[in-house]
Amino acid sequence: MGRKTANVVLNTAFGQPAMAVDTHIFRVSNRTGIAPGKNVLEVEKRLMRLVPREFLLDAHHWLILHGRYTCTARKPKCGACIIEDLCEFKQKRDYMD
Ligand code: SF4
Repeated sequence: MGRKTANVVLNTAFGQPAMAVDTHIFRVSNRTGIAPGKNVLEVEKRLMRLVPREFLLDAHHWLILHGRYTCTARKPKCGACIIEDLCEFKQKRDYMD
């Protein structure tokens, strides 16, 4: 079992706070600047330090959904993004419409 799968099992089956960094979480964390990292382990460690424990379970889902539906890989919807004012993505002006 890989690290991501193990973290998902911990999160969902056992209710243990963990951060399974998938492609969406990796992209959102780096674009926004919330938890930049060169690989998923770096991002995971930063998020685990940054996100308060009581929000870890929900934060995992929120980050995935934000990456899947708003901060999409090819054409992020920056003009409709509720955290646009906080996001440090340098190219966000190119995606405002
Ligand atoms: S402003 Fe754009 S790049 Fe930043 S989080 Fe929102 S959708 Fe993603």
